[in-house]
Amino acid sequence: LETLRRQSTADYQRADAAHHLHPFTDYKSLKAEGSRVMVRGEGVWLWDFDGKKYLDGMAGLWCSQIGHGRREIADAVHRQMCELEFYNTFFKTTHPGAVELAEQLAMMTPEGLNHVFFTGSGSEANDTVYRLVRHYWALMGRPEKKVIIGRRLGYHGSTVAASAMGGMGGMHTQGGMLPDVHHIEPPYWFDLGGDMSKEEFGKKAAIWLAEAIAEIGEENVAAFIAEPIQGAGGVIIPPDTYWPEVKKILAGKDILFVADEVISGFGRTGEWFASDHYGLKPDLMPIAKGLSSGYLPIGGVMVSDKVADVVAEGGEFFHGFTYSAHPASCAAALANLKIMREERVVERVKEDIGPYLQERWRALGEHPLVGEARMLGLVGALELVPAKPGRSERFANTGEVGTLCRDISFGNGLIMRAVRDGMIIAPPLVISHDEVDQLVALAR
Ligand code: PLP
Repeated sequence: LETLRRQSTADYQRADAAHHLHPFTDYKSLKAEGSRVMVRGEGVWLWDFDGKKYLDGMAGLWCSQIGHGRREIADAVHRQMCELEFYNTFFKTTHPGAVELAEQLAMMTPEGLNHVFFTGSGSEANDTVYRLVRHYWALMGRPEKKVIIGRRLGYHGSTVAASAMGGMGGMHTQGGMLPDVHHIEPPYWFDLGGDMSKEEFGKKAAIWLAEAIAEIGEENVAAFIAEPIQGAGGVIIPPDTYWPEVKKILAGKDILFVADEVISGFGRTGEWFASDHYGLKPDLMPIAKGLSSGYLPIGGVMVSDKVADVVAEGGEFFHGFTYSAHPASCAAALANLKIMREERVVERVKEDIGPYLQERWRALGEHPLVGEARMLGLVGALELVPAKPGRSERFANTGEVGTLCRDISFGNGLIMRAVRDGMIIAPPLVISHDEVDQLVALAR
């Protein structure tokens, strides 16, 4: 096996194409073009095997709040690994890191979310949501309340229930759908707003939820699941009128509200959680990614007292993952949260670096090919259009234009992500002013 050591990028690419099935990758073009071989990270920067340097405009995959290469995290994980590398949390067992992290999360998440069910990822968190929601209503003596309402272009992960609740058509076609999941249209003004102002459209998009509930019957609806900002769907930042209207629609209804904060949590919007930004009070809140800044895999579902009190009386919940609250992942998350608190990472996004990038990002809206440049906190999108003014004339939305721009951007040393014919960005939250200037210059 020693002889398998690679000497060049091409060596890696050959072996990679032969043996590695990548997630969310077009295998034909992977084979033709070869994969990018990343070897090192520091702060907002990454280096490939050939020594080329990239500005990581996607924070890994919306994960790296504190940036790459922080020794403190590696040291904390090393200490934990030497002490107890792994034990499970099944069957009435726990460990200090799990207890500490659960307590911190209960204190820092929105009011009422005082319990956490740990998972290894965001997808597992959302499959947990699916089962918890049904378990809850069964325990409440209302097993007919089964329908979960999600949104088109929502993304909740790749496992079966998570992808069904999400609204990505391609995933439904390939993996099948689950019964009792219903999708409504997203609050995507740029695409669906027609002649309406953003404010009018936000209200209209909320009414789609009211209409769906009326059509399905409140007695059959178990939950509404939504990302406060739809990330993978194209950084769809809802108009300001959307969430207040949705809150009114759900008020007093026997429907659980699930805010998927896998991307929007841990400072991305300039608050610890986007639910804080929008004043949302979720019954369940999936988290992952920024929880450990991606240093090790960990996720969870924050569970409200309302749901936890019922589940606590329900005997055994037949659900869990071997790596729920993995000790090394808990150590990584605790070290990450400590750094975020000590370096005031979230406050800095809100008061300093967020507004600084937003101003420069919006200026990109002047570019002849940009129909809209939107951003909240440090997460944003560019809608690409063939001609100004933006929304009437559009590219075919096949993703061809986005992919082209992504490849050009990559060639220039800036990692952005293409979504259909748009570009999205979510850099590490610790990005400096100078690095923001470099990012914007490269994006232009
Ligand atoms: N939920 C949201 C909002 C996400 O954006 C993602 C991943 O991008 C997930 C869930 C799934 O998380 P994971 O890839 O860790 O399973």
